[in-house]
This record gives sequence, C-alpha cells and structure tokens, in this order.
Amino acid sequence: MVQCPLCKKLVKSLHKKSHLIPEWMYKDCYYDKHKLLYANTISKDIREKQKGFYDEIICCNCESESQTYDHYASLILHQKNSSVYKAINRTTKQIALKEEILNLSYWENIDFLKFQKFVFACVLRTHLSEKKSRRSLFAEKHFEGMREIYKNNSIIDDMTYPIVVFKLPDDDKYINRVDLSSSIKVLNHNVVDFYGAGYTFWVFVSKHKKPDFVQKLCLNHNGSLYLIYRYFEDTGKFKALIKSNFEKDFKNFRSKKDR
Ligand SMILES: [Zn+2]
Repeated sequence: MVQCPLCKKLVKSLHKKSHLIPEWMYKDCYYDKHKLLYANTISKDIREKQKGFYDEIICCNCESESQTYDHYASLILHQKNSSVYKAINRTTKQIALKEEILNLSYWENIDFLKFQKFVFACVLRTHLSEKKSRRSLFAEKHFEGMREIYKNNSIIDDMTYPIVVFKLPDDDKYINRVDLSSSIKVLNHNVVDFYGAGYTFWVFVSKHKKPDFVQKLCLNHNGSLYLIYRYFEDTGKFKALIKSNFEKDFKNFRSKKDR
C-alpha cells in the first residue's frame, strides 16, 4: 500500500498520469499535432516533447477530484460558448497603481472554492512531482497549509495563499507558451507562478502581510477577481530570459525545427 500525499489515504497504487497542469492549458502550444517544444529555464534544456506534463503523484480519487476543478477553470477561462463562462460578470476597469495605469477586467460570480482549488491543485501537483527529483516549490509547512485549505471545504480562506491572475492581450506574440509552476520573488515575497492558455497565475506563499495590490486584486472569497492585462515582454520573467540569452537559444532551436 502507498499513502496518497494529498488525501493521506492508503491506496493500492497512485494514478499513473496526473496532469501537472491541465491539458486544455497547452493544447494550443503543440506546434504540430503531437509535439511541444519543451524549454526548462533552470537546466537550460530545450527539446521536443511528445507527451504532456504528468506524473505519478496522487491517488485516483484525488486525480478525479482535481479534474472537476480543472474543468471548471477551462469553462470560465477558455470556453466562451459555455453557460458557465457566460455566468461570469466581466467589466473593464483602469486603476492607477503607483505610477502605472493598469488595464483590468473585473470578474464577479466566480465559484471561489472551485477556482481556488484549480489553482492550488496545479501548484500542489507540481510540488509533489518536483519533490521526486529532490526539488520543491516551497517549504513542507506551506504544502501542508495549502493542502489543508484544498481538502477542507469548510475553510474559506482567500488571504493565506492569495491568487493573482494576469492575462496576455490576444495580440501577444508569446500567447502560445506554457510554464509549469516555479518559484519566483515578487517584492521580497515568495510566489509560485505558472502559465498557460494566455493566463499567468501567481500564488503568494509567505507568512508576512501581503502587498496592498495583492489584497486589492486577488481572487476574493466573494467570487470576484481583478484580471490584469500585461504583455509577456513586460514581465520580469521575460527580462530574465533575455538577460540569460535563453530566449535567443529558444528562437534558434525553434527556427531549426521550422525549416
Ligand atoms: Zn488521494
């Protein structure tokens, strides 16, 4: 028997193919029918990848539970014709943050628990997969803290691990990218970010008080969220890739493949 790290139950075996990030988040990233270009910015590894991103990390029950949340997210983020997508109230807003004017979309009527669990599931699954290679996204106490909120439906908590969402404008040339969860620093806070289907997700993983903009813009337990529009080239991640020459290596690799 083996213990599932998510529900802590003893099971015969774990699910063989838990998606680290749901397939709908990168189905537009295949450059031919079955091939993704895989670029690991830490190991500087660039290669073709034929399969999606999955691992043997959680039990079958936890996997099917997480698929419910993945499906909900695909409806509200991606499937414009679905009734669930249409049930979200979206209005455009601009707010000034320090010297910057942010273009935002204000969303209401989100099923808070389902959407939070979708984001947490992506982060928790990737953390478990990383742990198998002796890496991690955050300290174990944060895994347990996030797991507790994820598994216990009576906990309504939007501020211990707040979620901020960015959207690439539709004309962004980097829209077909997918990034698995990785840890970054934002204003001295530990943040886990992941990216796919034109959206970037930030989860703040720290004990200190969260920055004001996070408290204002994050997914709120009342089902609202400010979505921030931002070009990939304006992100710290892009600037770091340019600085490391990685973006150039990636383009060279890609143009060889396209020939
Ligand atoms: Zn489980």
